[in-house]
Parts: sequence; C-alpha cells; structure tokens
Amino acid sequence: MTLQDAATRVVIPERSIFIDGRFVEIAGAGTPVINPATEQEFARVANAGPEVVEDAMAAARRAFPTWSTTSPADRADALDRLADALDRHGNELAIVATSEIGTPIRDARAGQVDLPIRVLRSTADIVRHYGWDVRDAAGSSIVREATGVVLAITPWNFPVHQIITKLAPAIGAGCTVVLKPAEITPLTALFIAALCAEAGIPPGVVNVVTGKGSVLGEALLQSGAYDVVSFTGSLPIGRHIGAVAGDAIVRATLELGGKSPALVLDDADLESAVTTTVRNCFVNAGQKCNAPTRLLVPMTQVDEAAQIAGAVADEYRLGDPLDEQTTMGPMVSGDQRDIVSDFLQGAVHDGARLVTGGDRSRFERGYFITPAIVSGAPRDSRIAVEEVFGPVLTVLGYSGEDDGVNLANDTEFGLSSEVWSADPGRAASIARRIRAGQVRVNGVRTPHLPISPFGGYKRSGLGRELGEFGLDEFVEIKAILGDPELEGAT
Ligand code: NAP
Ligand code: MG
Repeated sequence: MTLQDAATRVVIPERSIFIDGRFVEIAGAGTPVINPATEQEFARVANAGPEVVEDAMAAARRAFPTWSTTSPADRADALDRLADALDRHGNELAIVATSEIGTPIRDARAGQVDLPIRVLRSTADIVRHYGWDVRDAAGSSIVREATGVVLAITPWNFPVHQIITKLAPAIGAGCTVVLKPAEITPLTALFIAALCAEAGIPPGVVNVVTGKGSVLGEALLQSGAYDVVSFTGSLPIGRHIGAVAGDAIVRATLELGGKSPALVLDDADLESAVTTTVRNCFVNAGQKCNAPTRLLVPMTQVDEAAQIAGAVADEYRLGDPLDEQTTMGPMVSGDQRDIVSDFLQGAVHDGARLVTGGDRSRFERGYFITPAIVSGAPRDSRIAVEEVFGPVLTVLGYSGEDDGVNLANDTEFGLSSEVWSADPGRAASIARRIRAGQVRVNGVRTPHLPISPFGGYKRSGLGRELGEFGLDEFVEIKAILGDPELEGAT
C-alpha cells in the first residue's frame, strides 16, 4: 500500500513487520484491517506469531549499547526529527487513523497528529534538561541510565498518541523498543515505524510487530527478553501482564481503565458543566479511558441535568468520519458496539431510564450507535460502576458535598476526574479529596503543553506517562559513592 503526499511518500509494505530498521514480509494470508465506517477491508497486515519474537527482541538488544550511550542532546534531536516527520506526513497519518478507528478526521488531526507532535517536542525538551548526572547532599553522584529493552503493548482507541506517549520517553531515555500495537489498529503503528526510519532513528531502536495479543503478545510477554513492559489497555490483560512482570522482577507500567466522575457542585453553572462534560465524554465515541462517564449532580438537579445532557447528545452528527462535518464516527468494531448495546439493555433492566441514544438501526453500514444518556441508575448497578468504553454517560444524584465526594471515589478505578464549581478555591479543595491521578477543574482539556503526569490510582494502573514522570519510568537510578568524577557533576 502506498500513501501519497505532495512532497514525500510513506510506504508500508503489506504483511510486513518492522525489525532492525527494515520491513520484513511474513508468510501467510495476514490479517485484514477493517474500516469501521464501511465494514470493508482496506489493508492487510502480517499476523506474526512466536516465530518473530527472538528476532525482534534481539534487534532491540543489539541496538541498546550504542543507543543508550548517545548523548541526551542527540536523542532529543532524534525526537524532534520524528516530530518533523509526523508533521510532514500529518494528513496521511490522520487519514490512516480515521480509517482504522473511525474517529472524525478533525479529531484525528488534533489527537493523533498534533498532540503526538507536541508530546515528542516536549519530551525532547525534558530529555535535554533532565537530571542525568547530579550530585546529592551526601556528595554522591546520582546517575540516571536507560533501563534497557522495552516491551510496549498498546490499545486501539488513540493509537498514535498512545504509541508516541511510550516511544518518546523510552527512546529519549536511551531504551530500545519492541512495540506490539492492538490487532485492529496496526497501520498507524507501522506508519510510525516508517517515520522512525525517515527520521534517522537507528535500526533496532524501534521495532514494530503485528499479530494477535493472545498469541504474539503473550509470546513477547513470556519471552523474558525485556527490562520494562509498558502497557495500556484493559484491566484483565493489565493484571496478567503485571503478574508476569512481577514474577520476572521486571518493571511494569500499566495504564488501565477508568470510570471517571464529573462532580458538579451545587454552585456550578449546570448548563455549562453538563454540556462540556457530555462533549468531553463523547470524544472518540466515548472510547476513551479518561472519559468523564459518571456525571454527579445534586439530587434535586438530576432531571434537569439529564435533559440538558440528552439535548447535547442529540446534536451529534454521526456519519462518514472523513467528512469534516461529522462529529461522531462509528465504534471501532462490531464487538465494541455490541458491548455498548448490552450495557444499555442491562441498565434499563436494572431500573435506569434511557434518556436518549443507543439506536443502531439508522445506519445500513458501519458500527454506528447513537450517543446515550442514562439516568436514575442504582448506584451499584453495572452501568454506574463498570467501564463501558462507548458513547454512554450516566447521570447520578448525590446529597451534600461529602456524599458527592464519596460517590466520586466509590469506584475501583482512579484514572481521572472532574470538579465543577463557581468558586475556584472550593474546587481546589475538593480536587485534593479525590483519589485519582488527574483532576480537571471546570472542564479543562489536555493543556497545550502535554507534560502533566497521566496515570491511575487504584486499579487504573501503575506508573505515570507524559512529562518528566513519564521519562522516570524508563530510567534506572545509580548512586556512585566516593565518585572521583564529581567535578563534572551538577
Ligand atoms: P486489551 O484486550 O487489554 O488489549 C490491549 C493490548 O494488549 C492489545 O495490543 C492487545 O492485543 C494486547 N494483548 C491482549 N492479550 C494479550 C496477552 N495475553 N499478552 C500480551 N498482550 C496482549 O484491550 P482492547 O482489546 O484494546 O480493549 C478492550 C478494553 O480495554 C476496552 O473495552 C476498554 O475497557 C479497555 N481499554 C482501556 C484503555 C486505556 O487507555 N486505559 C484503552 C483501550 C482499551 P490485541 O489487540 O491483538 O488483542
Ligand atoms: Mg482485546
């Protein structure tokens, strides 16, 4: 397949994986890549299995001694060159992302091109100024070094962003990487591999292998040939990966699910809080781990909030995600859509009211479902406690500030949360009572400078991504006591 740009081309050979700086064809029929808006196959990629694990890991291992001893400035320059390559090929990359996941093209440009570029550039900056070799108060040298070979396993929902959020700090730290993307979004990963080559990142520093998680992913995981595993995905697979890593005494960074609350305090502007929360929740058709899926409002405002939310949901224009006017595309797959339908049926069965949405009959083709608002669900019902991963927002009522905070925290997850108040001081003090890795005040989205740490309390995971905290996950710390080289240390 050839994707053409005015100036340059990115070529992703069919049924191939990327090892040691080259695409290598894998025998066999491969795996079709399906466009969720058309349900048609539009590309075919390698369905690699355990036979590629040794080669991929060996390539990363061979590249490590040289890459890990390059200067931080050289590695930062490499990240900037990769950002330049993403920029040059941004239009093509956005189209590939939209074709794989069905996210509207405008959102693909913002989230799968512009944001990853900013992640690369901000990480480059951090790599340039990081404390690679510092002196502590005891007079020892504290040296930070690349941990080794990284096994990166990523999901399908924001494929470019999730890959770059691992690659940038890993290679910025001096690690080398074997990446296995989600089976249903392999092309964005292979595209990034081609861009790494274009950016002059040395062979073996980044390797990309495609295949099934249960086969290839499992074989990579069991290989024991890596020093860090960095995973984003579901709780059950994350738990399994964490157990294998624990047994091998290998560091695991796990970014898992969420059931994030938006806590609207009684002094907040309800209209604005509800409208913004619905829009934040329905980004990427709700297939977003930090989506604010539980809208918590004072009990007396539940009906009004549900009505406002329903009206906002009904405004979405579903359709061809390549159309600039489309504001919501299909779900990524038929399976994912069935999960959403099941949740909604279950919610009604449990006594909740479906205010709007859940309609899939309007579309002849594509895994579309209209965005849904659920109200009146019992607090312990499935729709109120489990991650749906689709365009579903549940409105829940609380009685008094303490009950609101308790309800916000009454979840096994703790990835993200939101607080709404007319009083910034009140919002700030509530934010400190919420057990989650991020608290967003009054609907703020990801800042332009994406360096604030991202990651979960409780079962939302271990470790952090982005910024200096993200880089920390890929470095070992060495103390040199009585170091004769101290002169040069800062
Ligand atoms: P998943 O099943 O956890 O898969 C995530 C990644 O792990 C994929 O690359 C997958 O490969 C791989 N994998 C699966 N089994 C593996 C194994 N035994 N060993 C090694 N790797 C393995 O998540 P998903 O299928 O992408 O999405 C399912 C659910 O996860 C969603 O409905 C949502 O609840 C949650 N999720 C959370 C996030 C987040 O950011 N926190 C993101 C996406 C999804 P294959 O794709 O080839 O199976
Ligand atoms: Mg899966």
